[in-house]
Amino acid sequence: MINRRTMLSLALGTAGAVAAPSVFAQGAKTGTRIVFLGTKGGPRVGIGASNPANLVVVNGTPFVIDCGMGVSRQLVSAGVPIPSVKYILISHHHSDHNLEYGNLFYNAWAAGLSTPIQSFGPKGLEAMTRGFWATNKFDVDTRIEDEGRPDPRPLLIAKDIDDDGVVLKTADVTVTAFRTPHPPITDNFAYKFETPDGTIVFSSDTAYNPKLAEFARGADVLVHECLYVPAVDRLVAKTKNGSTLKKHLLDSHTTTEDVGRIAAAAGVKVLVLSHFVPGDDPEVTDDDWTRDVKKNYSGRIVVAKDLMELKLPV
Ligand SMILES: [Zn+2]
Ligand SMILES: [Zn+2]
Repeated sequence: MINRRTMLSLALGTAGAVAAPSVFAQGAKTGTRIVFLGTKGGPRVGIGASNPANLVVVNGTPFVIDCGMGVSRQLVSAGVPIPSVKYILISHHHSDHNLEYGNLFYNAWAAGLSTPIQSFGPKGLEAMTRGFWATNKFDVDTRIEDEGRPDPRPLLIAKDIDDDGVVLKTADVTVTAFRTPHPPITDNFAYKFETPDGTIVFSSDTAYNPKLAEFARGADVLVHECLYVPAVDRLVAKTKNGSTLKKHLLDSHTTTEDVGRIAAAAGVKVLVLSHFVPGDDPEVTDDDWTRDVKKNYSGRIVVAKDLMELKLPV
């Protein structure tokens, strides 16, 4: 039986090693890997792929990128203890990227969190954090009093990102933000992770943006969102707000053909397609996702699946 890890091995050939679920030893030189936690673009919850979220683990330290619904459950499924998370990065404030932000932190606390988690995201993240505590005040106060738990509020340290530039620097990792348009949203950041094992760039949701290729130039791995145009009409036919939704999708996302242009211009070693729009159309195959990408990009392409892992160096 071909499981997801085997599929990734096949996709990458022999060059891409695949990690086993790790025992978390933060600080140990255990390498770098990406886990694609949720690959379906958009906020609708279904029984297939989970909503957008990614994980980067560098020498045992987990960074969560985006918190679509299901992120906590997907971390557990990936064998990652939720309280081991150290950093959360939100790309933008569409709900498929932030709806489980507070709840992810809460779930870390519920599982015994005792060390801080730092979060970063566009303007509004600090306010969202305060709002989360207001919404959940009764439960949190009750459990502190009744169960003797530590107060979680000081353990979630949120920081709004205003501009491009370095947002986080650890002993191993530098994370840089880069604003990219996702109409009508402008407070939207791609993130670059420079790790000891290579550079990873996450596109965020984005309209076709050639400047993103400059930001990603020479990266080992580019994880890019993608839109499959022939399936958009089928998708919008299922919704009441069809014509408005179609315009939003075409204006704010990147077609597979244009994703290939970005990956080629950036010269990345591996292109990972994720945040599929539509992400739950059974008629769209992996070949459909890659066909038009290949018109412009001749490097290695991975069609991400939930819980697939990619180990660096690639
Ligand atoms: Zn999205
Ligand atoms: Zn979005």
